[in-house]
Amino acid sequence: METGPRSPLKSTVVSDLERNLEQVRERIRSAAARAGRDPGEITLIAVSKVFPAGAIREAYALGLRDFGENYVQEFEGKAPLLRDLEGARFHLIGHLQSNKARRAAELFDSIQSVDTEKLARRLNDAGKPLEVMIEVKLSPEESKSGLDPQAAAPLIAAVRALPNLRLRGLMTMPPWFDDPEDARPYFRRLRELAAHHGVTGLSMGMSGDLEVAIEEGATHVRVGTALFGPRKHD
Ligand SMILES: *Cc1c(COP(=O)(O)O)cnc(C)c1O
Repeated sequence: METGPRSPLKSTVVSDLERNLEQVRERIRSAAARAGRDPGEITLIAVSKVFPAGAIREAYALGLRDFGENYVQEFEGKAPLLRDLEGARFHLIGHLQSNKARRAAELFDSIQSVDTEKLARRLNDAGKPLEVMIEVKLSPEESKSGLDPQAAAPLIAAVRALPNLRLRGLMTMPPWFDDPEDARPYFRRLRELAAHHGVTGLSMGMSGDLEVAIEEGATHVRVGTALFGPRKHD
């Protein structure tokens, strides 16, 4: 046991991140309880975009192991500062252009934003075992990323046939709503789509709507603001 002069301080000073993390974990626990689910089957992905490598290190020290980043170029700058974080897993959750696929495959353990066969093939060609999710666009709103659900079957089949890719689930990001209840139909739709294709993972739910997503079956929630605070830009 540590008995140095620093230990009393350590036990009383709680950082913002530590407090936020406790709140997010409590939200996950109670949503899981309401849904009769085991909270242990829900992976909390800390979305660290815009925040420096130091924020990831602090989160890691508090026990977080899964981190979500949106931009290959931004993470390229942080990755060298994080090499020693054993067991940390980095997920690319932002749109990926196929010309950056090789670099993304080197930097990340998992790519959640696969939305074309061309991108899937490029990721496979990088030659490294990679977990992937397929990003589905469930609303007609203008957005450049995400696959039309009608086109899910061929892409799922293509990903399953690529030897370096392991299909871990489907991912979605509903339009922004003030009332998280309004996101429920999108989460439900993703769950039904996944079940229809025999896919088990569901990456859905963010700071504002993670409870609803968990009630609808989320296996991965992607949480930024509720952990790290507001982003100045992204
Ligand atoms: C930024 C982002 C998140 C996190 O959003 P918060 O509302 O800050 O929790 C989750 N998923 C994706 C794809 C994002 O780009």
